[in-house]
Amino acid sequence: MSAEQTDENIDQLPAVAKNIYLPCKKCDENRYHRVLAHKSKNSAKLECEICSGKKTFTLKKARKKATGAKKKTATKRVKKNSFAALLTDIGTEGTVPYSMKSKFDEKAAIDHSKFGLGFVTESTALKVQVVFEDATRELVHNRGN
Ligand SMILES: [Zn+2]
Repeated sequence: MSAEQTDENIDQLPAVAKNIYLPCKKCDENRYHRVLAHKSKNSAKLECEICSGKKTFTLKKARKKATGAKKKTATKRVKKNSFAALLTDIGTEGTVPYSMKSKFDEKAAIDHSKFGLGFVTESTALKVQVVFEDATRELVHNRGN
């Protein structure tokens, strides 16, 4: 084994058009690979100098990170406040037409002329967060005076 640089000890992507010394599957030997493009922060597209074989180079660090802990919190939160869940929770019986002059409390069901049925998940002095079937929107309310 030579002391040449291999992917084992690289922690930064080589610049585009630079050469990087890596094993080539086709040649079955270590070859200089030209960096064609960066695919992402952590991976680059390479071309073998000898056989023109293409390969993707990914930083080891990034690979480790990718298999790490998954963030579940965000998904859970969305589910809890999803339109379907709120529809079950709150129902449509007390639905009131939306108007920026009216005041809406948390868990109010509103009927918006443009967005349709929505549920208030957060109510502050002048704004409400409303979950509609297609998206969550921030609307103004309590502007009666
Ligand atoms: Zn090759």
